[in-house]
Amino acid sequence: MTSSTPWAVRCAGLTKSYGSKENRVFALRGVDLEAAPGELLMLVGPSGCGKTTLISVVAGILDRDEGLCELFGQDPRELSGRERVAFRGRNIGFVFQAFNLIPSLSALENVSIPLLILGKRRGEAEARAAEALGQVGLGDRVRSLPAQLSGGQQQRVAVARALVHDPRLVVCDEPTSALDHRTGMQVMETLRSLATGNGRTLIIVTHDARIFGCADRIAHMDDGRIERIETAAARNTA
Ligand code: ADP
Ligand code: MG
Repeated sequence: MTSSTPWAVRCAGLTKSYGSKENRVFALRGVDLEAAPGELLMLVGPSGCGKTTLISVVAGILDRDEGLCELFGQDPRELSGRERVAFRGRNIGFVFQAFNLIPSLSALENVSIPLLILGKRRGEAEARAAEALGQVGLGDRVRSLPAQLSGGQQQRVAVARALVHDPRLVVCDEPTSALDHRTGMQVMETLRSLATGNGRTLIIVTHDARIFGCADRIAHMDDGRIERIETAAARNTA
């Protein structure tokens, strides 16, 4: 890993298509985008423009076709399969629109998962998971199953799960869009206050204009490309 790079995420000429031949869909048509350490970057644009594809490639859930996509100066594709899984496990946390909690596991067990994947012992994993649930205001709900929690509480469990292993990058796909306004704002405030500490980078895909004010920069995407980038300073003076 080169420590000289200033970027947490650096994409250049990134392309990704689905399917083949006549069924081919070009989801990313040459994306150039960087995110700095400690930055809260929002990614916005119309449905189908490639937002989920882009953050999935950044997070290593999907493979790119062409171009560059580095995390912390490292191209995960240059690592062996096992190293790549470990690199992602250590460095990335995810929050999805639909919470994606495992229904048969308690909040505590759900939040422990990233630590168990990293090889922590169950006792230590659960102690850290309990602490993370406390930080999102759910210290008294550690034994609850997802179905026993409200949508906002489930999303806060998901936030705790994304942060419990102290990743350097957190990616969120529409984290507030399944929630009502007030609950969505609470989840956003939790994310903003917890996730951007320690130079951690947060990338949030959203349609939700109500949360734009939390961003340092907003990348506007259309038809598989970044069309323009708006900075918080420019928004405030506009
Ligand atoms: P967004 O998140 O901005 O709504 P997506 O990244 O989900 O956009 O999708 C970008 C394009 O890729 C769309 O045209 C979508 O239909 C297509 N697409 C996404 N996932 C798949 C897939 N698994 N198979 C085929 N096409 C897909
Ligand atoms: Mg999407």
